[in-house]
Amino acid sequence: MGNAVLEKLHLALGTLRLCEADALLESHLQRAAQADRPYAEFLLEVLEAEVRARQDSRYHNAVKRARFPFTKSLDQFDFAFQPSIDPVQIRELQTLRFAHEASNVLFLGPPGVGKTHLAVALAVEAVKAGFSAQFITAHDLVSDLGKAAREGRLDRRLRAYVNPKVLVIDEVGYLPLDDVGATLFFQLVSTRYERGSILLTSNKSYGDWGSVFGDAVMATAVLDRLLHHSTTLNIRGDSYRLKERKKAGLLAPLDRKEEQANNGR
Ligand code: ADP
Ligand code: MG
Repeated sequence: MGNAVLEKLHLALGTLRLCEADALLESHLQRAAQADRPYAEFLLEVLEAEVRARQDSRYHNAVKRARFPFTKSLDQFDFAFQPSIDPVQIRELQTLRFAHEASNVLFLGPPGVGKTHLAVALAVEAVKAGFSAQFITAHDLVSDLGKAAREGRLDRRLRAYVNPKVLVIDEVGYLPLDDVGATLFFQLVSTRYERGSILLTSNKSYGDWGSVFGDAVMATAVLDRLLHHSTTLNIRGDSYRLKERKKAGLLAPLDRKEEQANNGR
């Protein structure tokens, strides 16, 4: 093939922004010539490489934008260690029906049982399937919305948390919310209602949400919307963090107290 044709090919691929095909053109051409392959096969190979590269880069960008604290998968979760989790429920969640239906998933349980791990892993699955996702702790969410409200730009900021199809709100209940925080949280939940999924983790059972939201009426209003279309996973088990430290022989006296408290539950 003449250099002029090759140059024009590169130009055309560049104009169409088929970057992967552009970068690998020579090697594809060489392989096709050597193997004497049908034209259609060559074209398919080039286009499939382009599609794969685009999907990869979309996935990596979406993961970066989601701001996960880590990217762990369901495969990395030891379900044998946490028998209170129903594998049937996990398989159902893996179908991502929750994301298609904009329903919520709530992970409840004591510290270290894998609530954040599971919420992130499901959100990562959703991103793989093409959904947009965002991770934020309840504390950061409320302080970000509070700041926006004070600066008169709450609507715009709320939109940023309504747009992602999957929103992970981590650690609801670790810190109690004041009146303004509770109202902002309620506003977010009701704006997302039936529009996008919330994956929420909390160390507090629903009965204790009154103390998190400062009053029972507000907690009921939030729960009413969150739970209407939802799945709850109540994880009752030992802390995985504690197990790992125990294995490493690093159990400090403080941890032993935590362990006794857990055993006494
Ligand atoms: P939680 O949010 O419930 O406090 P995390 O999800 O942050 O707990 O889990 C604490 C750490 O232990 C994380 O590094 C997580 O990946 C790991 N972990 C927790 N449970 C499991 C498990 N069953 N299998 C594998 N890793 C786990
Ligand atoms: Mg957590």
